Amino acid sequence: MPPVKLHWRHLYDEVVTSGLCTGCAGCVIACPHDVLGYTDRDGVYRPFQTEDHGGPGDCSHGERGCTSCTRACPRFRDWEPEIDEFLFGRTRRADEVSGIYKDILLARATDPVLAEVGQDGGLVSAILCYCLEHDLIDAALVSYLEGDGRTWKAVPGVARTREEVIAAAGSRYTYSANTLAYAEAVAGGAERIALVGMSCQSSVPAVMKQRKAGKVARRLSLNIGLLCSKTFDDAIFEELLEAKYGLARADIKKMNIKGRLQIWTHDGAYHEVPLKECHAFTRQGCLHCPDFAAEHADISTGGIGKYNDWTLTVVRTDTGRQVMARMVRDGWVDTRPGDDDPDAIALMHRLAAKSRSRWPETAVAAPRLVG
Ligand SMILES: Cc1cc2nc3c(=O)[nH]c(=O)nc-3n(C[C@H](O)[C@H](O)[C@H](O)COP(=O)(O)OP(=O)(O)OC[C@H]3O[C@@H](n4cnc5c(N)ncnc54)[C@H](O)[C@@H]3O)c2cc1C
Ligand code: SF4
Ligand code: SF4
Repeated sequence: MPPVKLHWRHLYDEVVTSGLCTGCAGCVIACPHDVLGYTDRDGVYRPFQTEDHGGPGDCSHGERGCTSCTRACPRFRDWEPEIDEFLFGRTRRADEVSGIYKDILLARATDPVLAEVGQDGGLVSAILCYCLEHDLIDAALVSYLEGDGRTWKAVPGVARTREEVIAAAGSRYTYSANTLAYAEAVAGGAERIALVGMSCQSSVPAVMKQRKAGKVARRLSLNIGLLCSKTFDDAIFEELLEAKYGLARADIKKMNIKGRLQIWTHDGAYHEVPLKECHAFTRQGCLHCPDFAAEHADISTGGIGKYNDWTLTVVRTDTGRQVMARMVRDGWVDTRPGDDDPDAIALMHRLAAKSRSRWPETAVAAPRLVG
């Protein structure tokens, strides 16, 4: 019997409608027939099938043998050991709850503008500027705020210049499937593209490469992950921040999460919201996500730890090491050893173990491993 071709029907049943789908949009950008759409409205961040053919779980191309969507999905079947083996030449040990890595350090952009606009140390923005200015990438897939920023709706977009990298800097805590900006980057002529994305998105390039999902994978040449335990549903703005704290979207200047939701407003005031009040607004796609530490990125970045203006930096691949080494050599980043803040590393491992415990018993076993 010929092997079963795994297509949209399998993805729809096993991931999209089972609670495993994160909304990363890997399947959407891999679809060569453009029959997968994406919704980001009403708290739903999901792919859907647009063809006028059968039901939502049918795809005429899949039935004829197209397997691109399942090859691009970092939640389909044994994605974790497959990507670990591909990226690192081995699967992880049970104690490697934050994934396999080469180095952990703290890093900060030396450029004062990038350090200022960055959420933590501005490392991500510095990497993008460095790689654009040194012809290592043509474009980056990032997240902007729509319009003039007053709606706080995070939207995917392309950065090709320092000005655009700066405009995209900082963190928004609602979802933005940055992968969706891929088509715009390619339409603009980009062949070497950096993806910046939360943990769920940062497994997309690796799974595509491992499962040979084609040209898209080849173009995603640098993968920068953001540590992440959840994103919030957009309803948090009206139903919590405005209803209880009187903070309208347009009032908010900056947000951060450091044990609590921190909010700075345009009038210069500072507000805090306990995280336990925010939990009810956890986005559905995050509820079963097992990946806190962006475990398949070239470089994973986070803000935990005692040094607010530094980025906790987990270097995982040779590509990540080369980029960091060049930036240090050329004076683009200051670094200090991760051992300067061992509590931050311990906290990363604890949060990673916590995320892994969310992976459902009914799904494949590997991502449940918690050390
Ligand atoms: C939703 C979310 C949750 C996070 N949770 C944690 C956490 O629990 N613990 C932790 O240590 N770190 C977390 N981080 C990472 C942290 O906030 C910083 O992004 C990271 O430390 C890099 O800081 P930086 O100053 O180097 O980045 P910057 O130079 O500020 O660059 C940040 C990059 O992230 C992109 N970005 C911003 N918001 C989004 C979004 N919503 N979706 C996709 N891309 C986005 C921007 O476009 C920009 O390119 C989270 C980030 C996000 C976006
Ligand atoms: S997890 Fe990502 S790739 Fe998989 S079905 Fe959902 S959106 Fe598509
Ligand atoms: S917790 Fe973060 S990484 Fe996981 S699905 Fe949600 S947004 Fe993605």
